[in-house]
Order: sequence, then structure tokens, then C-alpha cells
Amino acid sequence: MPSNGVNTELPKPGLATAALHADHPDAAVDGNYAVAPSISLSTTFRSPHPSSAHAKQLEEAVRGEAEFDMQDPGFHIYSRYSQSTNIRAEKVLSQIMKAHALTYSSGLSAAHAAVTHYAPTVIAIKRGYHGVHVSIQLYARGRNVKIIDLDDDYQAAMASSNISAEDSKDAAVQRGGLLVWVETPLNPTGEARDLAKYVTKARAVAGAHVVVDSTFAPPPLQDPFAQGVDMVMHSGTKYFGGHSDLLCGVLAVKDKKEWDSLWSDRTYFGANLGSMEAYLLLRSLRTLTVRVQKQSQTATKLAAWLHSLATSTQVAPEDEAFAGAKLVARTYHSSLQPRSDPDDVVTKGASPEDPTFDPSSQMPGGHTPTFAFRTTKPIYATWIPHLTTYFTPATSLGGVESLLEHRVKSDPTEDPRIIRVSVGLEEFEDLQADLRSAFAEALQRESQGQLE
Ligand SMILES: *Cc1c(COP(=O)(O)O)cnc(C)c1O
Repeated sequence: MPSNGVNTELPKPGLATAALHADHPDAAVDGNYAVAPSISLSTTFRSPHPSSAHAKQLEEAVRGEAEFDMQDPGFHIYSRYSQSTNIRAEKVLSQIMKAHALTYSSGLSAAHAAVTHYAPTVIAIKRGYHGVHVSIQLYARGRNVKIIDLDDDYQAAMASSNISAEDSKDAAVQRGGLLVWVETPLNPTGEARDLAKYVTKARAVAGAHVVVDSTFAPPPLQDPFAQGVDMVMHSGTKYFGGHSDLLCGVLAVKDKKEWDSLWSDRTYFGANLGSMEAYLLLRSLRTLTVRVQKQSQTATKLAAWLHSLATSTQVAPEDEAFAGAKLVARTYHSSLQPRSDPDDVVTKGASPEDPTFDPSSQMPGGHTPTFAFRTTKPIYATWIPHLTTYFTPATSLGGVESLLEHRVKSDPTEDPRIIRVSVGLEEFEDLQADLRSAFAEALQRESQGQLE
């Protein structure tokens, strides 16, 4: 047995086991460690004694003669550099994402860090979470940056951008090139994009990088590194946090040097995850796989049921009042792809090949727990979230309580008939009954002229 008390002869742990044990303390150092981590809020730490090994290590690091491994510094100085609970949370995230992970104060601060890390001159992006677009505009402010459509010709865009790549020798990455930003599954529909296709397209351009916003499909649902992307980003506020009580962002990269560079940037942006949030995050990560698998299963069943309302000739007797596209016009979810029929709303935001793309192999762990449906009239989308009992009308997603959102309220570019569904941990039958009752109520109110 090695000194950390973990038997390395055991096979590499699966995700659920890693989420519980990846940050396992060193039993040889502390044979009586607390099973749950202590809450540590201190921003500052007593300096190492001048004659200690830590003091010498620190002096050498300040003189640039030695490097600290900031994933495992051994001691702390100030919490903007390192903090024990966050290090544990990053250890767990790194194992379950099979890469080197860092935490941030929010999903958008992680997105901003990703963009400044690659410092692109051309950014390809299309629809998805609106805040990321605003964050990219902030990056582009005062810089010569071109923003293009994800499905544009990358070579042509690079050729006409006439900005030469800044290729700093000591940088962990080549900067100044093309950044391809792919969100999959996509907000708010929960439909997947073909990652392998965008990776292949990006690789034809020198110095291109692919970042995936994987917020809608955390582990164990998909691993975008399997499709060869450079970086994976998450709004940890959603499934990693999982309880609607913390803001968090996560970036992960395969290369430790890139992680070091991101760590240094984060230290000077000051975009750190708070110590209390790191504690809450770690607590939530323990149950990530069970939560997400259950949420994914329930969402897939709900999406199939909603889809059947508009498309099936045989529905349950209790569904007849709103069946046949009387109320639900269309349901969007990665499990309902490939779509053979083109759709006016989604084609606006979808990529050309999407109607034939089957995301099952890209999402081996299951489909996203967040998806959307389109009602036949905007007034239904306004009212339905307020006629339910278990679903709460609210923005955000990924928590244990189910939410419905009239999406146009958060994103003015969205179709006003779209309702986003974030499935929590309630029973499928209760959520289905809740939607049935809200649909019936909406139709009844309408017939009485009370739906305005
Ligand atoms: C919520 C979200 C973000 C932004 O994350 P915050 O934690 O709110 O800053 C980015 N991308 C997607 C897909 C999201 O759902």
C-alpha cells in the first residue's frame, strides 16, 4: 500500500467511486481524518518558519528557481492561490472529467477565462447560452476580433481576418488563432451538436482550438475529450452544484502546462470559487452520478411523453384534451434526434447536418436532463410554468427541484412559445401528472377567457 492508504492494485475507480474518493486524505499522515472535509474559510495562513523546507521552497519559487505544483502545494499562503477544500473539489472534478480541472466563481467567469486563455482573433459560435455571447463581446471590446457563425468557412474567415497569430514561445498554448465554441447539448432545446464534425473542421485550421460548453451533459452523460476537443467548460452552478445554492464555473484541459497557465490567469483575474462554495460543491459532487442518471432517465421519459402528445395517434385517455398538437406543438431533446423532419424554429439555430445526426454515441451515459417544448401559442408558454405545483417557474437548471422557464424572459432572441424544462429528482409520474394538470388548467382558463 502506498502512503496515501489507497491500494493502487485496485482497478481504476469508476466515476461514482472517484466522486467519493479522488480527494481521499493521506491516511499515513492523518490516520484519523474526518470522513467529510472540514469547512475552511481562512483567506490567509501562517507563514512557514524561516528554517523549514516550505520556506526554502517558497524562496526558490519567488526567485523563479523552482515551481510549485499548485494542484498539490502542500501548504497554503493566501486563498486566491490555494485553499484546501477547493483543491479537494478540483481533484474530484479532475478524476471525473479525466483531465486537469479548475474552478471559477461562475460559469461565465470560466467562459471568460477560456477565451482569454486562447486569446483568439476569430471566434466561431452559434446560438446557445446567451450570456456566453455577451462574455465574448466583452473580450472583443477594444480588440480586433472577428465573431463568425459556427457553420461558416473557418479557413476563409482566418484568411480575411488579416491578424497574425501572436505565438509567444513560453506560452502553454498557441494564441491568436481560431476559437471554435461548441455548446452541446444546446440551451434551451437540449439537442446535441455533432462534436466530431466541428473538431475535424477546426483541425484543418492551424492554431485552432475547440472549447465545449458541456453544462447540459455533465459526467457521466458525455465526455467531449473523447471527440478530441481541447477544453471542456461547465457552469458548475447547474449539475455539479446540483442544489440551486451556489455559483461556480469549471474548465478542464488535458495538459498540465495549460492548467498551470489557467491557474496563473485565475490568480490575477481573481475569479476564484469562494471557500464556502468549494465546500458545497464538493458535497454535491459526491452524489453527481446518482442525481444526473436519475434526472436523465426521468427527462427522457418526460420528453418521450410530451413528444407523443403531438405526434402519436394513440394517447392515454387523460391526455386526449391536449393531444394532437392542440397545446404541445413540438418537443426537443437529444433523445428525439435524429430529426427527419425540418423544423422552422430549430433550423434557425440548428446546424445544417443536424437532422441526421444521432447523438447516442456521443452521449453514452444518457441524454440531457434539460430540454424544451414548443407550445402552439405564446400565451400557453407564459402561463403553464405558473399553473404547476412541483415544477417551479424559474430560470437556471440542474438542481434537484424541477423548473419550468418561459425562455424568452431570459433570452429575448428565443421563440416566445418555448418552455425549457429542467428535470429534478421528483418521481416521473408526479411530474407528468403536474404537467397534465397544468395543460388542462390552461385550456380551461382559455375557454373561460381567463388566459391573457
Ligand atoms: C448557466 C450557463 C452558463 C453560465 O453559467 P453561470 O454559472 O450562470 O455564470 C453558461 N453556459 C450554459 C450552457 C449555462 O446553462
